[in-house]
Amino acid sequence: MRIGALVTAVGVLWAALAAEVLAASDVRSVRLWRAPDNTRLVFDLSGPVQHSVFTLAAPNRIVIDVSGAKLATNLGQLSLANTPITGVRSAQRSAEELRVVIDLSAPVTPKSFALAPNQQYGHRLVVDLFDQNGSAPAPTQAPSVAATTPPVPVTPTQPPPKLTPVPNGKRDIVIAIDAGHGGEDPGALAPVKGQYEKHVTLAIAKELQRQINAEKGFRGELVRTGDYFIPLRKRTEIARKKGADLFVSIHADAAPRAAAFGASVYALSERGATSETARWLADAENQSDLIGGAGNVSLDDKDKMLAGVLLDLSMTASLSSSLNVGQKVLSNMGSITSLHKRRVEQAGFMVLKSPDIPSILVETGFISNPNEARKLHTASHQQALARSIQTGIRQFFRENPPPGTYIAWLRDEGKIAPAPREHVVARGESLALIAQRYQISLALLRSTNNLNGDVIKVGQTLQIPATALAAQ
Ligand SMILES: [Zn+2]
Repeated sequence: MRIGALVTAVGVLWAALAAEVLAASDVRSVRLWRAPDNTRLVFDLSGPVQHSVFTLAAPNRIVIDVSGAKLATNLGQLSLANTPITGVRSAQRSAEELRVVIDLSAPVTPKSFALAPNQQYGHRLVVDLFDQNGSAPAPTQAPSVAATTPPVPVTPTQPPPKLTPVPNGKRDIVIAIDAGHGGEDPGALAPVKGQYEKHVTLAIAKELQRQINAEKGFRGELVRTGDYFIPLRKRTEIARKKGADLFVSIHADAAPRAAAFGASVYALSERGATSETARWLADAENQSDLIGGAGNVSLDDKDKMLAGVLLDLSMTASLSSSLNVGQKVLSNMGSITSLHKRRVEQAGFMVLKSPDIPSILVETGFISNPNEARKLHTASHQQALARSIQTGIRQFFRENPPPGTYIAWLRDEGKIAPAPREHVVARGESLALIAQRYQISLALLRSTNNLNGDVIKVGQTLQIPATALAAQ
């Protein structure tokens, strides 16, 4: 073993000259977030600084040199539980050079970068310490929720589960629940100081997981289990690794108008889907791991043209399922909260861009509206929101169970009572076409909906009689 330093300089190495021209900035506070595979330290600064980071072995340490900075906070207040950090020390090496030493119980790989001020924060220096294999401490469980929620094992290195349908298999339907934002990204702010979207989304996500797990045949998997940041692409990747049949992202965003209120559900836009198909095809890495989810289509052995067609079909199928499940969730939410829009909206949100997993984004309300913010923070409203989302998901999967699942088995055994279905009339659809689609007579469709003629409007909701299901 080499004695002394195995030095990895990361970030910007400061020049002596630069230090002289930079006015001293204060390190006003230090925040720490523990994620399942890394620890993030955020230094809040009164102005920009230059910095360098290097690692030392035996014992393991990280040294962060910050030039043009003075420490104006107490480092002893950081909560280091569940992290590989055993201590944080500092020394003012000169009037304008601060050294922070992080003592570690295990080796880590550091990454550091500066962040410019945004709405919520000023200048920041971010140091991410990635666990090296096999040395990851247990993931953080928020103590307040741990009592009511079973611990969720987080194993990011786990290989994707095999999803080939087993004849008469009875696997669980997996719902990936993505609590929006987290850690350094607080999301939208409530009018009351200290209330952030990231806390509301996690609370609703955990409640939704509890309700989903309470129903046989379903399993809820949290994408984010605590207060830490996950990049958007990583969120869909985690869902795919967990073998998700559906991805649900939970949000409670702000609107420019404080008066805006109501819940909404989003699916990916047609345009977003088209551009995402192109992006996936352009990315050689993606081509090799497609498509393990709903379609079980491997693109490895297909030529580019055929791969494009298959991917497009998968994207279209996912999108149509997303709109279907989204409408069911929205209808159920409509009975417990105001709706911002009555139809599923479509947008190019990044987290919705899985070509193989139906994905929806639920805006549970506007946290910027004082009245809604207050409701969103109450446990009873969080439970009601989760219940309406869970009901919509259950309705969708009882009608469309993936092969090889317990719910598909129940349906095949005739153990699911046929439920009446709803159909929202789309542009270009006639009553005859809809009757044909559900394999029912035109007369029955007319009488069920008290229609005298065949005139229907775009956006009109039709009841589809339950005999349609029995006939399948
Ligand atoms: Zn959000």
